[in-house]
Amino acid sequence: MNFGESIKEEIFSKPLKENHCKKAFLAGIIRGSGVLFEAENGYGLSFKIAGERRAIIVADLIRETFGFDVREISVEEDRLNARDVFEISLTGEEARKVLLDLGIIKESREGTSVLGFFGEITDRECCFRAFLRGLFVVSGSCTVPGENSGEKTGYHLELCFSHSVSAELTAKELFKRNIKSNITRRKSDYVLYIKSADGIKDFIAALPAPVSVLKLTDIMIEREILNVSNRRKNCDLGNVNRQIEAQEKILAAINKIEKERGVDFLKPDLKATANARKKFADDTLSELAARLSITKSCLNHRLRKIAEIAEKL
Ligand SMILES: [Zn+2]
Repeated sequence: MNFGESIKEEIFSKPLKENHCKKAFLAGIIRGSGVLFEAENGYGLSFKIAGERRAIIVADLIRETFGFDVREISVEEDRLNARDVFEISLTGEEARKVLLDLGIIKESREGTSVLGFFGEITDRECCFRAFLRGLFVVSGSCTVPGENSGEKTGYHLELCFSHSVSAELTAKELFKRNIKSNITRRKSDYVLYIKSADGIKDFIAALPAPVSVLKLTDIMIEREILNVSNRRKNCDLGNVNRQIEAQEKILAAINKIEKERGVDFLKPDLKATANARKKFADDTLSELAARLSITKSCLNHRLRKIAEIAEKL
């Protein structure tokens, strides 16, 4: 199970207690995946839930909240993810009641209109969070590094909306809670996404899904340890490479001088240094300096001098 699915499992594993939160959760589900259509007897509403157990939970919530049984449920196979997707449909007075009560449509003298704003349904903090959970279970996904072995994935959490207003409003509400998100278009959808590990952690904590927060914290710590040790490794290798390069350069310089002018061309101290460098090619600078009974900076100075002489030849 990927990380996003485990968040959804956690959400569905905790029953909602308050009626207001149940409504907010359903509103989130409908805002996230609902489709309104015209039916013979007025409005029709349908929305999709993946997984039988989850579909039953949602149908139960509708009965508890609105007092009627869902009569129309159809199943389709989601082969890609090897699961069944259940489509719940409501029509007539039942659809109207749900849509009005959840603040999704408004009726006025001019007719019926769909509300871009969430209305009072998310006014209470507990309800906003329930609403967010509803949104996430139907339109959310989340991936974290190291989920698919061999594949390099970063941190990514998103909520998919069919309307820009809902996406923007959700982003605004999240921002009030110090969770920064961005919105982008993908085909006809508006995708709200969070890329930073800390932002994703704050989002999951706001749902709240505490078990998933702990899991994510573990992943972040593991990642951090891995990054630090990789950085250290790269850094060590960088140093070694630089040393080897410098060593090769100085040996080439000494060879050039010997070939073109003979080793006696160098002053005695430089000559001794050149000879030692050739003879003890595996020595570090410190070891070579000790061998010559000079300081490391003196050795560096002499090697630079040799390189300069070779360059002018
Ligand atoms: Zn509530």
